[in-house]
Amino acid sequence: MKFLKKQDPELYAAMHSELKRQSENLEMIASENFVSRAVLEAAGSVLTNKYAEGYPYRWSKKTDKINYKLYGRYYGGCEFIDEAEKLAIERAKEIFGAEHANVQPHSGSQANMAAYFAIINPGDTILSLELSHGGHLTHGHPLSFSGSLFNIVPYGVNKETEQFDYDEIRKIALEVKPQMILTGASAYPRKIDFAKFREIADEVNAKFVVDMAHIAGLIAAGLHQSPIAYADIITTTTHKTLRGPRGGMILCKEEYAKAVDRWVFPGTQGGPLMHIIAAKAAAFKEALTPEFKEYQKQIIINATSLAQTLSEKDFNLVSGGTDTHLMLINLGTEEEGGPSGKKMEGCLDKAGITANKNTVPFDTRKPFVASGIRLGTPAVTTRGMKEEQMKQIAEFISQVHINYQDEEKLFAIKKEVREFCSQFPLYADLLNENK
Ligand SMILES: *Cc1c(COP(=O)(O)O)cnc(C)c1O
Repeated sequence: MKFLKKQDPELYAAMHSELKRQSENLEMIASENFVSRAVLEAAGSVLTNKYAEGYPYRWSKKTDKINYKLYGRYYGGCEFIDEAEKLAIERAKEIFGAEHANVQPHSGSQANMAAYFAIINPGDTILSLELSHGGHLTHGHPLSFSGSLFNIVPYGVNKETEQFDYDEIRKIALEVKPQMILTGASAYPRKIDFAKFREIADEVNAKFVVDMAHIAGLIAAGLHQSPIAYADIITTTTHKTLRGPRGGMILCKEEYAKAVDRWVFPGTQGGPLMHIIAAKAAAFKEALTPEFKEYQKQIIINATSLAQTLSEKDFNLVSGGTDTHLMLINLGTEEEGGPSGKKMEGCLDKAGITANKNTVPFDTRKPFVASGIRLGTPAVTTRGMKEEQMKQIAEFISQVHINYQDEEKLFAIKKEVREFCSQFPLYADLLNENK
């Protein structure tokens, strides 16, 4: 960052502090990860300079199929960035076995917006997972475009099992006859049965969309049922378990390809972020390697180990555990005493552990306070941590919980955490260069 350091010391200081924070803290936010140096290079490249509205192909009038030989851009000079976008598209299709991939959405939220518009109309009914039970804002929150443009009917988890109850979801679907059924979650620790959802969607003649943002990496590695055979459209982020740059993507069957493309550009976006699309291509190449599969396996092994150790330390986990990369600690109600999610998040932060508060199903606190903490293992697994380290992390978290009112103790834990993290270097060369 030598140019930045010289030209803009203020900004440099903030960015350098962030680099240090990432390396010295324990990153337990389930939706975060650390990209490779190759992905970082692509994201920080001159491709940011290029306008490229349109696509690196056009639909052939004769065959009604995508033709890469036809120029599909609204700007000149796209011959090289076209190659980058083609690589991203073809690799995405290969990873997930998809008929069509649109790699242009700037984020998961934008991917969702384009996807909904591609198959339903404003005013239509969407059956989707309730936010406080693990859903996402774009699945129907009133403050999101989804909640203001569509009629949202939520489904939740079962009160006893804290897991999806497919008979109950079917019952609601039969009652409300939605135009679209949506599944996928930001805070659901269990596997999702896409085949069951498809059956329900067929029964009520609804379109079926899967938002696999959190679990895309697990699916890419074959460790979670793939939605490809079941969903009409699949949306995802590229920066969570998939370990690419911050961004979104849409996969779909050929019959929806044109509508999806049209709703991404010009429907909801202008020029694509070509540097980010190049970074997606770089990340997708990594996702096709055997090492990536091993990495995803380790994420799950680590999550299982962390969940088990936390349970042994008497933490109450939503649904009793996990079979993915994430888990939710239920800290209990206000009456039961102890810290709220918000309080615990702050205490963990003081101890060098980054996590986020989260509502638990049937939470009695307000969402901004919440009774849960969400934890995930993708980032620490990228650093090379294994089961042994998960046991130590559970111990750190337990110590924070016991000593949540003792600032000094929290500060002492932070020192230990920093020492612990230094054994798993992250972006060491970047840190050295910027000493
Ligand atoms: C993270 C997430 C998104 C949104 O991603 P952004 O890139 O933050 O817009 C959408 N859906 C689900 C299920 C997510 O977890």
